[in-house]
Amino acid sequence: MITPLIAANWKMNLTEDKAASWCKSFITSLPARALKYVVIAPPYTLIKTVQENLISTPIIISAQNCHWEEKGAFTGEISPVHLKDLKICWTIIGHSERRHILKEDQEIVNKRLKGSLKNGLKVIYCIGEKLEERKEGKTLDVLKEQLKVLEEVKEYEKNIVIAYEPVWAIGTGIVAKEDEIKEAHREIKKFYPSIPVLYGGSVNEENIREIMEIEEVDGVLVGGASLDPEKFSKIVEYSLKTKGVL
Ligand code: PEP
Repeated sequence: MITPLIAANWKMNLTEDKAASWCKSFITSLPARALKYVVIAPPYTLIKTVQENLISTPIIISAQNCHWEEKGAFTGEISPVHLKDLKICWTIIGHSERRHILKEDQEIVNKRLKGSLKNGLKVIYCIGEKLEERKEGKTLDVLKEQLKVLEEVKEYEKNIVIAYEPVWAIGTGIVAKEDEIKEAHREIKKFYPSIPVLYGGSVNEENIREIMEIEEVDGVLVGGASLDPEKFSKIVEYSLKTKGVL
């Protein structure tokens, strides 16, 4: 797995024209050699537009979620076969908005993770504690519980990236402190030393250097700040410079 990885999660944002101009602006703002470290996760409906506009680049395009079955009566869902049909080889699984707003419990997340991996997809597997869990001192227990499923997919380890995203830091403007990030990433790496671990939660062009200076951080997953190609380009540039690859 290539690292550092700088991933953009567009969530339920942008439309065709905006996605196309985002791509045009983003790829001209960075040296070509920087682009192989970048992942973009657009809404499903924008995948084709993004592919067309990034065709000449090594940027990885990812889905934001994936069903575990290949086909069937699952209205509104997208299967690993659909993604592969579009030449998409990556998906995010277990994002906190899926877990907490769309009520996907760990059982559902586990099925999605296993189904995606067994179908040959690479997965950015999101984990993270809620604020009350942190306040109750349960952070590491929550992470361990969310990581348990990885024991069942050991043979796919090289296709997994973990994103540590404290729920209270996502979209709130509150970034986890250095020692909080270090503690979580060290705990994850204690069990899975060969899996890259990204940090996610209110990352922007101002705080990215501080975050990437943390040795245990192998990249970032960026929501809000990834919608602006100039801001995201700065995030990529500063990340790669901090890790010494640019
Ligand atoms: C995310 O969507 O994974 C995320 C981290 O969002 P934001 O950067 O907006 O906090």
